[in-house]
Amino acid sequence: MAGEPQADCLFCKIVAGDVPATVVRESETTVAFRDINPQAPTHVLVIPKVHHPDAASLAAAEPAIAGDVLREAGEVAAEEKLESYRIVFNTGSGAGQTVFHAHAHVLGGRGLQWPPG
Ligand code: C5P
Repeated sequence: MAGEPQADCLFCKIVAGDVPATVVRESETTVAFRDINPQAPTHVLVIPKVHHPDAASLAAAEPAIAGDVLREAGEVAAEEKLESYRIVFNTGSGAGQTVFHAHAHVLGGRGLQWPPG
């Protein structure tokens, strides 16, 4: 069922505490943790606790929680004292998505080029 934990989902396992992560923030609906393979001095992932495969499906099914993800991304940036930062939702393998549980990348602490690769 949409939103239910998926046995084969790495980020559901992080939510459950079955896979370790360096958690920097947690809310009733979200968890934020440091990316295991950081692409910038600050690279934090914000995920909803519910399982949806990507950001758009999360927003369609549970818009309030999609809002929570964005709010928490902003809180991470504030805590990390980032003046400029990027919030990225890779969607689809062609865009680099490797974990099919919605997540926002919060990237900052270095210059960020535009357009991205
Ligand atoms: O957007 P994408 O699906 O590629 O992002 C998944 C991210 O999850 C990657 O940046 C990867 O480094 C990160 N990851 C992690 N901890 C894990 C497995 C993957 O932070 N245990």
